[in-house]
Amino acid sequence: MNRFVVPADAKSWISVDPMSDFPIQNLPFGLAAPKGRNEAVVVAIGDQALDLQALQAAGLIDEEEYPILDSFIELTGERLSRLRQAVFDLLVDSNRALRDNKKARERAFIPLDKANLQVPIPPPAFVDFYSGIHHASNVGKMFRPDHPPLLPNYRWIPIGYNGRASSVYPSGEGVVRPKGQVKSAGDEPPTWGPTLEMDFELEMGFYVSHGQDPGKRITTTAAEDHMLGLVIVNDWSARDVQRWEYQPLGPFLAKSFGTTVSPWIVTLDALEPFRIKGMDQEPPPLPYLRNHGSPHFDIELEVWIQSVKMSKPQLLSRSNMKYLYWSLAQQLAHQTSNGTPVEFGDLYATGTISGPEEGTYGSMLELTWRGQQPITLDETGETRRFLEDGDMVTMKAYAQSDGFRIGFGACTGTVQPALT
Ligand code: MN
Repeated sequence: MNRFVVPADAKSWISVDPMSDFPIQNLPFGLAAPKGRNEAVVVAIGDQALDLQALQAAGLIDEEEYPILDSFIELTGERLSRLRQAVFDLLVDSNRALRDNKKARERAFIPLDKANLQVPIPPPAFVDFYSGIHHASNVGKMFRPDHPPLLPNYRWIPIGYNGRASSVYPSGEGVVRPKGQVKSAGDEPPTWGPTLEMDFELEMGFYVSHGQDPGKRITTTAAEDHMLGLVIVNDWSARDVQRWEYQPLGPFLAKSFGTTVSPWIVTLDALEPFRIKGMDQEPPPLPYLRNHGSPHFDIELEVWIQSVKMSKPQLLSRSNMKYLYWSLAQQLAHQTSNGTPVEFGDLYATGTISGPEEGTYGSMLELTWRGQQPITLDETGETRRFLEDGDMVTMKAYAQSDGFRIGFGACTGTVQPALT
């Protein structure tokens, strides 16, 4: 597939801060719902969102070539790359078509702080993998201390489960503390109430572009051509509920109450310069799961926390997408390897991406080692084993280059008190 990679030295006639997530090299897609206007498919540039339908109304982007629906772009593969190139052409400093068209500019630009960004595509299906090997090892050490940290299948199969698509929320929306059934060692019988072990999971995810029919599979070679791009995913988790319910069929209500996604789909085109080979896979995967080229991405990840009493967030963890054992291509190839159909907008999350050492873990479960080593919030002296009501969790992701960064914006959620 022909990808459109913006030259590293390209500049826009719109001024963009060098630390901005959205230079002209990025141009990610999102869905805005500004007050008093229709929902609009938008592209981010600097601190602005650019309304693509407004550009079409002004005759600056071809409506027939790029049919942008009200809800989202059913544009896939190379046509999405070409649309991104058409937006680039209007924004690059040498082009005056939009710059000198005051009326079109006024209609098309929405300040980011007024854009009211939504879930970019409400996914028809949501799958969560478990491809972060350091996370899987840490969980194994905590929950199966007398056994090897990784189960015997881990290095053979990209482990995952079918999640809940109805509870995928946009960044900024609150997540209500779930109630659930829990049972501690001494408890008899189990009890039901608000979780006492509310947690986040630092993950990335990809959206499927064109799908695949039942009975056919997507190979690792073709898999990336079926991806629109990446988002940050916070897979909220209730650990005490999870411990009691997850055997033998895996997570259920401990996960299904909420998943937060970041507002921008960052295309693989924009991430092309940040490809890496990733970690060695030993034993080599079975032939249907073989990787090709450099299937991983060097993307920095951060988690921040702010309690109600704090005036600014504190950095909790710093990780990187390179700590995935299984690539995105392997995940999609595995999902379809049994003939399961996939469709436009399906969302696949990677699993928690922890780094190898303390301070790089992607969940409170690991950061506090199951609550045994509470974290101190420096500004107020409060401590945390898990999340408290009012805690705001913000995840960030960016690929850093000389002179610009390809950022994802923020993936934020605040814990709301449980319903009575
Ligand atoms: Mn997860």
